[in-house]
Amino acid sequence: MSDLRLSVNLVLNDELQRATEYYHQTSGVTSTMVQTAKERLERYAPLLAYLFPELEKTHGIIESPLMPIKAFSDYGEAGGYWLKGDHALAVAGSVKARGGIHEVLEFVDRLSEEYCLMPNNSVIDLLSERSLEVLNKYKVTVGSTGNLGMSVGIISAALGMQAVIHMSTEAKEWKKQRLRDRGAMVIEHDGDYALAVEEGREEALADAFSHFVDDEQSISLFCGYAVAGSRLKAQIDELGIQVDAEHPLFVYIPCGVGGAPGGITYGLKGEFGDYVHVFFVEPEDSSCFAVQMTHLEQPNISIYDVGQKNDTEADGLAVPVASQLAVKEMRPRLSGVVVIGEDNLMRDLYLLKEQSDIQIEPSAAAALSGPRAIFNTPEGAAYIEKHGLAEHMPRANHIVWATGGSFMPEDEYKAFWKRGKAMVKA
Ligand SMILES: *Cc1c(COP(=O)(O)O)cnc(C)c1O
Repeated sequence: MSDLRLSVNLVLNDELQRATEYYHQTSGVTSTMVQTAKERLERYAPLLAYLFPELEKTHGIIESPLMPIKAFSDYGEAGGYWLKGDHALAVAGSVKARGGIHEVLEFVDRLSEEYCLMPNNSVIDLLSERSLEVLNKYKVTVGSTGNLGMSVGIISAALGMQAVIHMSTEAKEWKKQRLRDRGAMVIEHDGDYALAVEEGREEALADAFSHFVDDEQSISLFCGYAVAGSRLKAQIDELGIQVDAEHPLFVYIPCGVGGAPGGITYGLKGEFGDYVHVFFVEPEDSSCFAVQMTHLEQPNISIYDVGQKNDTEADGLAVPVASQLAVKEMRPRLSGVVVIGEDNLMRDLYLLKEQSDIQIEPSAAAALSGPRAIFNTPEGAAYIEKHGLAEHMPRANHIVWATGGSFMPEDEYKAFWKRGKAMVKA
């Protein structure tokens, strides 16, 4: 007998509202802020294309493909299954690209105004000697389990700034090395992600020339992530995928603090309103968002408070406390959180490679359990019933958000793949 333990649970969000109820909400993040983030990424595109030759093809826009995948055997009947390939995002190799790069560019915009670094109103001015001299005095600091550090570190160093990345114990060695190779300074901590963030925050606040990218509270980061919404809408239109009352769209996104999936959800709800149903996915020993959503009366509740240990191979999701910014924005928008067993990660990482030849990291593989939760849990059935979706399910489209992986060294990937293979064959 194999001791494979596939498990999937769905926690529904009772506070989900109809889009008409939160569209006019005026506190917090606004659609104008997201639009500004989108325009900023476009304005900087020529500079990014110059700094990163791999962006020449897309003229400096960092975006990932939406591609069809084969359904897993325990998925239900649907119009189509798709994978959003952020594992292949250029420069950062993960979902952290849009948010992390946006926040660093917003900081550069502020410096540019203060020091008048763009006299010709062109981002190319930032390559001038005087600009580089100014930028080099500044430091961008961030706490990370790995991927946010890569995104922020690589762009900051490329723009001539110093990058200081505080890494938690979960951070993989190759991610630290990749950053060091690009000129970033990596500080290793023995503690978890929350501690790495705290240390980074303290160090940065004590330094007037330092900007701290706050993964738990940053609106700039959140808005950068949210840009994915309108970009995905354009891809959906281009592929001719229908999204309306008769063609619901389900989206599943791996969740750590909730900032990246929260931003994406914000963007998607803005584009598709009630026709899109978004679910986060978390490992069962690091399910901080599910824990927070079920303990709304206790802000900043930690997974340790409910007996979880933060022990998971999904390094990008190994987070003890949810972002309160993300929680606030998700309360009316998020459909629910899927909580999965550790074995799902390796098995699905393996199966995706075998079935669709796509290579992703364990954190990203979490998303593949999303459809499974809709079709194989009582809560999934209850959700379909409550929202009157039963008759539309055969035409529904499902998108699993593959959040990272293409930079993973081959031997590292292979080790995960082998573990998954052993589970399937057992
Ligand atoms: C960071 C990350 C996530 C989750 O993003 P949060 O903002 O922490 O919720 C998901 N997948 C991967 C690969 C990541 O690096």
